[in-house]
Order: sequence, then structure tokens, then C-alpha cells
Amino acid sequence: MGNVVDDLIARVFDDVRSLDAGEVADYIPELAAVAPDSFGICLATIDGYVYEIGDSRHPFTIQSISKPFTYALALADRGAEAVDAKIDVEPSGEPFNEISLDPLTERPRNPMINAGAITAASLVTGADQATRFERIRAAYSRYAGRELPFNEAVYESEARTGHRNRAIGHMLRSFDVISGDPNDAVDLYFRQCSIDVTCRDLSLMAATMANNGVNPLTRERALTAVGVEQVLSVMSTCGMYDGAGKWLVEVGLPAKSGVGGGVMAVLPGQIGIAVYSPRLDAHGNSVRGVAAAKALSKELELHFLHVT
Ligand code: GLN
Repeated sequence: MGNVVDDLIARVFDDVRSLDAGEVADYIPELAAVAPDSFGICLATIDGYVYEIGDSRHPFTIQSISKPFTYALALADRGAEAVDAKIDVEPSGEPFNEISLDPLTERPRNPMINAGAITAASLVTGADQATRFERIRAAYSRYAGRELPFNEAVYESEARTGHRNRAIGHMLRSFDVISGDPNDAVDLYFRQCSIDVTCRDLSLMAATMANNGVNPLTRERALTAVGVEQVLSVMSTCGMYDGAGKWLVEVGLPAKSGVGGGVMAVLPGQIGIAVYSPRLDAHGNSVRGVAAAKALSKELELHFLHVT
């Protein structure tokens, strides 16, 4: 099996490498500083083997791929009922940074768009802001199986320019979706987006989800099995924003993207896949990330509705 997968990811890597469409995110000044043609693919199995090619150990910020992990932590801290009362689980078909609440429920439509993600951050427990952030970073680290570093430069860049997210925070406060200081929730969200990962880390984080919440290398439990189902469900319908429907048709796996250029996908009970390449399409999803995931899904018949 080993060589077959190595050969396959090498072939997909070579095919997809020629794609140079899309632009690196530059609305956060520090993000524009990355090498646009970096490219890595990793596939981690639930028994802890990682196949990797290209820039698989190159650090970049997790950005929105943080959202399912903080949502999982909020679920563990508060319980599903309390979290559901604040954040819906309906696909929005909206861009990630839409300033929106569902007009009927007056809740964010889901935890994968910023409104829902900022709400999820506000639900993480801890005595103070520093403790809450450390709990988030420690949780992500359990999924990756190593201590993940914080990228101060990206955080400062985002905090300086994040007016839209602040507007979302204040909107959430005015509708009582967030209690307490909305600036704290938004700051926590900026910080969680600024945690550095590699493509290899992301594949292991995805494999931890695939392994029902247990890290395949360290054997440490990162989230409860009940949480896994809820998080993967929301990733299936909302993880790729307004590109979620096409992704489901073409790739057919619960997934999450981030504007740092990462994408991760989960095949429950089997594998985690991650791709890193910073040029983004109009939805803010990595162009090569989407193409590589599509090719891998087709070749390995990973679509969750595939019948042999
Ligand atoms: N930090 C980013 C933001 O909220 C994350 C967005 C993303 O990765 N889609 O603007």
C-alpha cells in the first residue's frame, strides 16, 4: 500500500503543480508575504502513518481551519444544547466574512462563517483571556500531536486591520448572541487564526477527527466522539463556504479551508488529507488544494457517497 500511495500523491502533486491561478490573500498585510507557489500534500492514516510530498513541513497560519476545532472545544465546554442555542448548523452559502445573522433565529447560521466562529470562541471557558487562548492552543496541539506555535506577526497584522470582524463581534453582542465584551471574543478569534501549522500537522489533525477524536500518533483524546459527529456534519455542509456544494459534489468529504492556503479533509474511520498552497480562488479556498483533493478523492474513491 505504501508505495502505491506515495506514487499517487507524487502524480497528483505533479499534475496540480502547473496550476498558477488565484491570488494570495492580502487583506491581512502579513499574509501577502508568503511564497505564492509553496505546495505540499499530506495524507495521514488512522494508524499514524503520514505520506507527504513537497512543502509538507513549511509553517503557515491555520486561519479558518481553526473554526471546527474551536467549535469542538465550545461543544465540550458547554454541551451541544447550549452551543446550538447560540449557533445554528445550517449552510449559509455565504462568503466567510458575511455580516449576517439568520433573520428568524437571530443566530449565526453556522460555526464555519466568521459570525459563528466568533460566537464559538466566546463560548470557550477559562478564567481570563490568556487562559482561554491557552486552552484553545493546547486543544489544537493535541490534534496535531505537537505544541503548535503562535504567530505574533500575523496576529498583529490581523488585529490592526480586522474592522469587519470587529463589526461582526459588535453585531453579535447587540443581538445578545455574545455576552460579555465582544472585543474579547474577536481577539480570541484573531489569535486562534494566527496559530502556525504545517501541512503535515493538518493531515494529523484531520486524521484525529477521522480516528473518532483520538490522535493516531500520541493516542491522546482530542475531542469526544459525540463532538466528532457534530463537527464533521457541519464541515460537510459549510466547511468550504459558498464553495461547499461544489466541493461536496467533486470531493465528497467533510473539509475546511483557510485563507493561509491550507485545506484539510476527513474520511471518517480512515484518513486525514491536507494540502497547502496559498493561491486562493474567489471563495478564499486554495486553488491547488481544491484540485489536489478532487484528484485524490477520485483516484482513491474517497467520496463518502461512492458505491463500489
Ligand atoms: N482570519 C481570517 C478572517 O477572519 C480567516 C478567514 C479565513 O481563513 N477564511 O478574516
